[in-house]
Amino acid sequence: MPTRAWFSTYLYCEPLQARGLERLNLELADECARLRDFDDAGRRWSAQNYPGGYTSYASMNALHGFSSTFAALERKLTRHVKAFARSLDMDLRGRTVTMTDCWVNIMPPTAAHSMHLHPLSFISGTYYVVTPPGCPGLKFEDPRLSSLMAAPPKRADARDANRTHVTYPAVAGNVILFESWLRHEVAQNRVEGERISISFNYAWS
Ligand code: FE
Repeated sequence: MPTRAWFSTYLYCEPLQARGLERLNLELADECARLRDFDDAGRRWSAQNYPGGYTSYASMNALHGFSSTFAALERKLTRHVKAFARSLDMDLRGRTVTMTDCWVNIMPPTAAHSMHLHPLSFISGTYYVVTPPGCPGLKFEDPRLSSLMAAPPKRADARDANRTHVTYPAVAGNVILFESWLRHEVAQNRVEGERISISFNYAWS
């Protein structure tokens, strides 16, 4: 084959742990709901910036230092982040990976989260706590899309690696990791029931 692929973009998706996800997610869902009740500033911010939903992104965004449940989640997520960094052939030069931010997102019907990236970190991701059947997944955009000035569109039957977007379904118990510069969004939740996820950033420090 004269054509080879280079400059790949990697996404990581794995269950958080082999056993006990149902119980852990019940505990986390309960804690997320209590957080929303408690976090007046977050509800006010969300009303302005996250219509129809609740996020603690601007108010309580270091949850790993806030409760033992989130601290335990941090330890488990860190193992996945280290594995992802290894698969990217990153040389951490004796430093380690550190969770810098961790926040909750609750998306009732109609809530959406438009295209964005995560500044000031190098690996980011989401852990899914509650995912009603049919709720939206996590849609990623080809990071080169803004450079495709005069290129023709991709064929409908294009191979996966050549598509300009990919959507990972939201599955409770799964961790999705990506490099923080990769743009992504969540389409509007069109099903009954709240979709609950926990997002996080990691720094190299
Ligand atoms: Fe995000």
